[in-house]
Amino acid sequence: MENCIFCKIAAKQIPASVVYEDDELLAFKDINPAAPVHLLVIPKRHVATLSDCGAGDAPLLGKMLGLVPKLAAEFGCAVSYGADGTPNGGYKTLINSGPDGGQEVYHLHLHLYGGPRPWRGQR
Ligand code: 5GP
Ligand code: ZN
Repeated sequence: MENCIFCKIAAKQIPASVVYEDDELLAFKDINPAAPVHLLVIPKRHVATLSDCGAGDAPLLGKMLGLVPKLAAEFGCAVSYGADGTPNGGYKTLINSGPDGGQEVYHLHLHLYGGPRPWRGQR
């Protein structure tokens, strides 16, 4: 898709700090991180928003979400459990969709925010 910044990142036409890549997905560091760990997971093919997805996209969406635990572990924010079972660490995953959802870049992306709080703009 012409003039789509994330298509250009996927095509390596503009640089990004890539942390994961396969035939369908790319993950890279957000340029303006809102948390100590702030990664974006995108499909390489252009999909504007989650609202453009249907049942046929479930495998792609599942793959995007399924990548999150691996990235969280690599970036030190996986959920762990104390001896008494208390959860520690953790992260937030978010997909903004459309203007009312706060979407700014119209190429589907999943945010992964992690690290010790507080994070900018996050509850
Ligand atoms: P949205 O509000 O659309 O869910 O989030 C878009 C995100 O993309 C923002 O967190 C913003 O910082 C990030 N972003 C925008 N342009 C670029 C870019 O050129 N490179 C990278 N790595 N991140 C970008
Ligand atoms: Zn795109």
